[in-house]
Amino acid sequence: MRPVGSSPLARHAMAYVLAGGRGSRLLELTDRRAKPAVYFGGKSRIVDFALSNAYNSGIRHMAVATQYKAHSLIRHLQRGWNFLRPIRNESFDILPASQRVSESLWYLGTADAVYQNIDIIEDYGTKYIVVLAGDHVYKMDYEFMLQQHVDQNADVTVGCIEVPVAEASSFGVMHVDETDQIISFVEKPADPPTMPGNADISLASMGIYVFEQKFLFDLLRRDAADPNSSHDFGKDLIPYIVKNGKAVAHSFNRSCVRSETEPGAYWRDVGTVDAYWQANIDLTHVVPDLDIYDQNWPIWTYNEVTPPAKFVHDEDGRRGSAISSLVSGGCIVSGATIRNTLLSTGSRINSFSKVENAVILPYVQVARSCRLRNVVIDANVKIPEGLVVGEDPEEDALRFRRTERGICLITQPMIDRLEA
Ligand code: ATP
Repeated sequence: MRPVGSSPLARHAMAYVLAGGRGSRLLELTDRRAKPAVYFGGKSRIVDFALSNAYNSGIRHMAVATQYKAHSLIRHLQRGWNFLRPIRNESFDILPASQRVSESLWYLGTADAVYQNIDIIEDYGTKYIVVLAGDHVYKMDYEFMLQQHVDQNADVTVGCIEVPVAEASSFGVMHVDETDQIISFVEKPADPPTMPGNADISLASMGIYVFEQKFLFDLLRRDAADPNSSHDFGKDLIPYIVKNGKAVAHSFNRSCVRSETEPGAYWRDVGTVDAYWQANIDLTHVVPDLDIYDQNWPIWTYNEVTPPAKFVHDEDGRRGSAISSLVSGGCIVSGATIRNTLLSTGSRINSFSKVENAVILPYVQVARSCRLRNVVIDANVKIPEGLVVGEDPEEDALRFRRTERGICLITQPMIDRLEA
């Protein structure tokens, strides 16, 4: 593997992370935070994957555009990503929508979220810009994509991945020719086109775009003046280049980062509660598809200072135990059993409780004698004594947000309603 940070092109590039959208299909999980700020894998937030990829690829100038309920995201970025230093010609800017172009306008779309900050980005003096959706989980070395962009003399290079046609409606979908040039591109089509010779698969955009900075700025200025544009990369800019310039597709297979244990290219949108639950629970497998322990490609994040996780007998001598589970710092499992579960920082599970197939976000408290199965529990929720979830589907659906697949999302307002 290429040593981290040795990239010649990446050193001339900046990463611009789009993190202003809600991620509405995550339902109440994004009631108070944007999707990129949602916790993932016990210690990280979703946005840490795109940022870590940029950093590990050797990119040293980064900016994150925020808009929807950005407080949690901004606090996380300030705490966890403050190690890039201007004195080493590095920078990290958080760019909340702040009516910079007009006092009546927030970020109108993803392209506008770049356009409104052109003056700030220009000061970095970088030649290339890697625009990244901040809401996907994957490991990728952007250097290979930059290299393809330069080799093929493209106007834009778009990261792409094959997805089942049934899932393709949530993405930009494209067709390419034998030289990887994109010949058609439609954003979030109701009826997604499939790949030639395979009616089950579509070629989807990963929301990763490489441009030469000057080309992008000219295009953004042109787009800003167009009254018919929605000022969005997928809806407006990429289709425009496909028609009038040279857009090239970069296959994720060429640049995905895999450790020795990872079976294939891993990329998840985690856009729904079911997909989010599944991707987290997958991490509890003995050899998961995503290796977050790979020291060659660390997922950088805010590392909260916590005491060690602790497993204790309760006063009756009942063991506190965790089987096939990820347990973060500051957690205490006391006389309770957790199985195939992910415990985020600072959570407590008390006596006689049994927790299985659960994604538990930071600082959750589970009181005594609970039985919880197939759940996602939002941060700071206090689960009352004796609560049972995952045994009676009808009852669960009345009290919590129960998905088609039978996963229950539990938030504090739902618990408060139970107790009212
Ligand atoms: P949903 O429609 O489910 O709420 P979304 O708006 O979060 O989804 P996309 O439209 O796929 O998602 O957005 C792609 C990326 O751009 C995401 O990372 C999202 O956070 C970000 N984004 C979306 N709209 C804006 C905006 N106006 N400003 C900045 N970033 C944005």
